Order: sequence, then C-alpha cells, then structure tokens
Amino acid sequence: MKQKFEVIVIGGGHAGCEAALASARMGCSTLLLTMNHSKTAEMSCNPSIGGVGKGQLVKEIDALGGEMGKNADYTGIQFKRLNTRKGSAVQSSRCQSDKKQYALRMQGIIASQPGLVVVEGEVKAILTDAQGVSGVHLLDKEGILLEFFSKSIVVTAGTFMRGLMHCGGETSKGGRFGENSSQGLSDCLRDLGMTLLRLKTGTPPRLLRHSIDFSQMERQDGDENAHRFSFSPTEIVLPQVPCFLTYTNPETHAIIRENLSRSPLYSGKIKGIGPRYCPSIEDKVVKFPEKPRHQLFFEPEALDSDWIYPNGISTSLPAEVQEAFLRSVPGCERVEFARYGYAVEYDCIDPRQLGHTLEVKHLPGLFLAGQVNGTSGYEEAAAQGLLGGINAGLRAFSREPFVLSRTESYLGVMIDDLIHQGVSEPYRMFTSRAEFRLSLREDNADLRLRPMGRALGLVDAEDFTRFERRKEAIDAGKAFLRKKILKPSEAVNSGLAEMGSSPLNAPQSLAQVLKRPEVGLEDVLRLSQTELPLAIDKETCETLEIEVKFEGYIEIQRGQIDQLKKMQELTIPAAFEYARVAGLSNELREKLGRTQPKTLAEAARISGITPAALTALVFHLRQKGHPPVNSVI
Ligand code: FAD
Repeated sequence: MKQKFEVIVIGGGHAGCEAALASARMGCSTLLLTMNHSKTAEMSCNPSIGGVGKGQLVKEIDALGGEMGKNADYTGIQFKRLNTRKGSAVQSSRCQSDKKQYALRMQGIIASQPGLVVVEGEVKAILTDAQGVSGVHLLDKEGILLEFFSKSIVVTAGTFMRGLMHCGGETSKGGRFGENSSQGLSDCLRDLGMTLLRLKTGTPPRLLRHSIDFSQMERQDGDENAHRFSFSPTEIVLPQVPCFLTYTNPETHAIIRENLSRSPLYSGKIKGIGPRYCPSIEDKVVKFPEKPRHQLFFEPEALDSDWIYPNGISTSLPAEVQEAFLRSVPGCERVEFARYGYAVEYDCIDPRQLGHTLEVKHLPGLFLAGQVNGTSGYEEAAAQGLLGGINAGLRAFSREPFVLSRTESYLGVMIDDLIHQGVSEPYRMFTSRAEFRLSLREDNADLRLRPMGRALGLVDAEDFTRFERRKEAIDAGKAFLRKKILKPSEAVNSGLAEMGSSPLNAPQSLAQVLKRPEVGLEDVLRLSQTELPLAIDKETCETLEIEVKFEGYIEIQRGQIDQLKKMQELTIPAAFEYARVAGLSNELREKLGRTQPKTLAEAARISGITPAALTALVFHLRQKGHPPVNSVI
C-alpha cells in the first residue's frame, strides 16, 4: 500500500468521518486510521441526532457539504422540531436514529468515497520534522508497526485516550463499552508540547424492550410533517416509531441516595470533570433534592433491535443498584438489562492551544477535532471534524485556511469559545452561546454557508443550482411582499378579526401586515388574494416568512455584527507586552499574555475580560500609535 498521503485522519468517530470525507472530496489522497472499522460512526450514547443548538450545527454541516444531515435523514426513525412554542431563533430539529443503520450507511459512504483509504489499527505516535508533523506510527491488528507519512494530520480520538470505564466499584480500560482505550497517543501529544485535561462522561443502561410495560408510559410520536436535516433532496425512508415517557419517583431517589457512596462519582474514584448540563441520575438526585421526579424518555435503539435507551438516567452506580432503582419506575417493574450504565474518564487537550482552523498553534500540520478538544456530542464532533478536515486539505494544497466567525455560524461560535475560553467541563452547544442567534437560524444555514461549501468543492453543481433557485425565490418573495399593498376592506378586516388581529385603517404593504405576530405568510397571501412570484416549497416559505417578520430585529443584529467586525479589525501586535498596560490586573495580564489574542474582539471574549480592561487596552494601543478605535467600544 502507498505509505504517503496528503491527509491522515486518526479516528473513525463522528469527527473522523466528516474530516476524512471532506478531505477526500476536496481531492486529497486521504488515509483514515481507526481502531475498529466495524465501529466507525458508532453512536456511543444516545441514538439520536440534533437537539437544541445541535440541530443548527447539523444544518451547517450539511450546508457546507458534510454528511451528517443526509445520514440522519436516511436513518431517522422519528423526527421532531423542538422549541416550536418559542421564537424561530431557538427552534431546533432532532431525530431518533436507527443507530445500526446510521453507522452502516456512513461506513458505506466512506467505503465508496474515491481517494479515501481505511486502515485498522492503533496510532501509537505522531512523527515530526523541522517543518511540523510528518507522519504516524500505527500498530495494526496483526501487531505489526506500520509507518504512514503526511504533512497534514487530523486527530479525532474521542473518549479513547487513556479511557477508563467505571461501573460501581469496577474499573476497566476502554474508550467505550467493548472497545480498547488508546494508550500511546496522549503521551505522544504531551511529548509534543500539548497540555492535556481529564474529563468524564456517562451513559445510561440499555434495557430489553420485551421486559418493559409501555402501557404505563406516555406515548410520544414524532411530527406529522417531519423536517429533514439536509438541504439536498434526501428522503425519510425508514418506518417512523414512537418513544415513551415515564418518570422516576421518591422511591427511585431513595434507593439512589442510599447507595451514593457506591457511585464512583461520589466515592472520589472518578477524577475527571463531567458535564453539568447532562448530569447523571446520582447528580440530579443530589443537586435537585426538591424535585419529586425526573423525566425518562424510552427511545428505541434500532428498528430490528430489542434494546431501549432510557434517556435521562445516565449512571455509574453498581449493577444491582441500577436494577433496583429502575424497577421502581412505572413500566419497569420487571425490566431486564442488556447492558449496565457506566462512566468513562478520558484525556483530551486544552483547546486554547488551537487556532481558528483547529491547527495546533505551535505544531504546523497537526489538527485536532471532536471530543478530544473537550467537547461532548456527535454534532459538535462532526462539525469540528468537517472544519479540521477542510483545513488539513487546504494545507495540503497550500491554499488559504478556512475560518468561520461567530457572526456567521454556530460552528464559528463553538470554535471561538473553545480556543479562547478553553473548557472546564465537556462543552456542548446551546443556542444561548450564540449572540446573533436570530441571524444564525437552522432554516438559513444554507444562505449563510452554501456558497462557501461550493467554493471548497464540497457542494456539487446540482445542489448549488437548487440553492441558487431557493435564494432567488426568497429575494423575489421579499421584494413582492414589500411592494404589494393591502387595502382596508370589510373582507380584509373580517379576515384579520378571525386571526385575532386588529383591523387595517390605512393601506399597508403585505410585509408590514406580516410583521403582526398573529399573522402568517399564507394569511397575507389569502387576504390579498395573490400568489408569490415564484413557486416555493414549505422550507423556503418558512425562511421568507421569518426574514420578513423579523426584518427589524435582524437589521439591529446586522448593526451589532458590523460593530464586532470593526473590533475584529483592530489588531493587537504579536508578542504584545500586556505587563505595560496600565489598569490591567495581574491575572488578566497573565491570561492575555498566555492567549495572545490577535484582535480586540478576540480579547473581549476571553473569560474575565471586563469592559474596563478593554478600555485600558484600547487606550494603550492608541497611545502606541494604533488606528483610532474610539468608535468600537
Ligand atoms: P468518538 O466517537 O469517540 O470516536 C473516536 C474514534 O477514534 C474511534 O473510532 C476510535 O477507534 C478512534 N481512535 C481513538 N484513538 C485512536 C488511535 N490511537 N488510533 C486509531 N484510532 C483511534 N455525548 C452526548 O452528547 N451526550 C452524552 O450523554 C454522551 N454520553 C457519552 C457516554 C459515553 C460512555 C461515551 C463513550 C460517549 C458519550 N457521549 C455523549 C459522547 C459522544 O459519544 C461523543 O461526543 C462523540 O462520539 C464524539 O465523537 P468523536 O468523533 O470525537 O469521537
């Protein structure tokens, strides 16, 4: 086999799949190295894709030409739009996935991708030379040490580096149930000058479907008009199935409380830091003692599987305690276990060592993406994998790097947060992390990112033409709604009254009438007895309606984004001496010196930086002859 590749990707998880596909689709000879190829694209935990904040990431991955959204559509067994009672900025899509089909389909896509080769084995070392990275050492399945060479390497090792699994008093090495941990890689990264952290995450037990009495639970069906993730013409092909809702109760909580000392979390055995937002059931019972019950969603793992995933009850209590507390839950009196819940501790890197391209600042050609950067979740991993793979490919072709800002994407928000703030617990995406979320909606991810995906060579001509037609229809629709006037009349006002809307006293454009909260796009078209100039599908209708309805707010955000861009333009010289800036605390001087922000905007996002500190910085920069910046803060 050829030993030299333009890009090498280490790890076949959600980050690794996107990284390898992006690089190969851009035309780079790409090698994907993974410990067990039959586990490529495995869903280690919940059998679902998307969710609040995460759905936005999946749409962005798709808009840029990644695979996750398409794969989720073809293998989804229940689709739901979340937060539909809240504003459009925070609505997100989620689907229940057939986890077997999800992994199998992705493995098929990888197998059929020209320019992409997969080799099984464990990467033991990353090799370097004077220019940066140069290759890897891989111990293959037969125990033979192989050498592969590349100047662009993407590490996506997930939860595997020195992974340690805990269930009650039992501890074993492993990155995920039934799979070995990766032993040499984190030592190698440390030797290459990287700072490592130790984090942990947990998963619930898996239960056997036939032993559960679903009649005692609340049935939860998906949406009737399911929203797909992909902007390409995918289809929902698998049968759609329900989930079930049940609750813990005081008896469940009492059993957990009595056995807390047997939880490795509470006995002090687990040293890694877990996610606050996704607590184990032990944590929920301790931290929210006033709550008499906690929700549990029972989700099917796959259509042809007897396994049920009880979402909301991740635990690492001993097996017999898991059995006891679960059997106190309605519907689970006779429940049988397919696998017990466990927690995993693993090494990850401090992401503040990375630049916006996910390349290590001090080691050219080494990119890291996914859970290894301190995040949690398939979507966060896949989005980083895509960006890391793109930049590894661009580097191989000596092309300009690809960077996304927080004003144009959730992906940009995540990378910016990671590289400036670092992590103190596994990082997951929330809509609240994006300051411009009304502009960064799911529905307009293609308007924001599709042209970039096309320029990178990841979106094909057919998909791009479809995108251009959609954009044209939205622009024509906006112009039409602004121009077309609705005159007051008896019919119009009685129509408005039926919608609970006040009468029209003077002529108004359809766009103005549409700004009323109780009036929708279809309503204004019906009242004016007109049609849009170009026929549009329901997704395009939705985008058009939001863009017109919230035009005012979107304009305000655009102003704020311009302001931020101005801050971005104010550069801070390299190796800037913060010790000389009067009015900065020693702690902030140390933090800024360590982080070395390139612009004022980057400095503003470092945790603990106050407006007063920024003013001191601006004042100092101005004194030293930097461009006038009065207008920016
Ligand atoms: P992974 O999916 O972990 O993939 C890593 C890949 O790297 C694997 O293919 C592995 O074989 C390969 N690899 C590692 N080291 C080497 C090496 N040296 N050589 C070759 N290949 C290597 N996410 C949530 O959002 N919510 C949760 O509640 C949640 N709970 C979890 C519980 C558990 C027990 C686990 C294990 C994970 C959990 N996750 C959860 C996290 C979720 O699984 C990950 O976020 C996601 O899978 C990360 O994707 P990734 O591509 O970064 O890594």
